[in-house]
Amino acid sequence: MERMTDTAETDCLFCKIVAGDLPADVVETTERVVAFRDIDPQAPVHVLVVPKEHHGDVSVLAAADPTLLAEVVSVADTVAHDLADGQYRFIFNSGPRAGQSVFHVHGHVIAGTQLGWSPA
Ligand code: 5GP
Ligand code: ZN
Repeated sequence: MERMTDTAETDCLFCKIVAGDLPADVVETTERVVAFRDIDPQAPVHVLVVPKEHHGDVSVLAAADPTLLAEVVSVADTVAHDLADGQYRFIFNSGPRAGQSVFHVHGHVIAGTQLGWSPA
């Protein structure tokens, strides 16, 4: 089992997945980032990409560690090319009014089908 990072929060679902305390279908991992399939997929490929360190949302991560945010984006791109045809949407819900429900920053890789567009 992987060691919890120094920033891990005990009540955080995604910190528990990162630590291996909860199961997940992991599709890609780097030293600082993990990607795993969403439990309730909205498309043929629906993968969540998270930094191993706990940051609440993308605003916090962008301010704290832009290099890590860039690695999250890079892993998302790798996943989209490995699991789909490299055409994808990468979404961060930031804040409850934007639909964020898990407060450990994660981007959604959505791919594998023709996507429509609705901003809300
Ligand atoms: P948010 O609404 O915060 O942008 O996205 C949270 C996502 O986490 C949702 O798409 C939801 O389906 C997913 N999710 C919630 N609990 C779990 C879980 O235990 N395992 C996995 N793999 N995904 C989860
Ligand atoms: Zn966390």
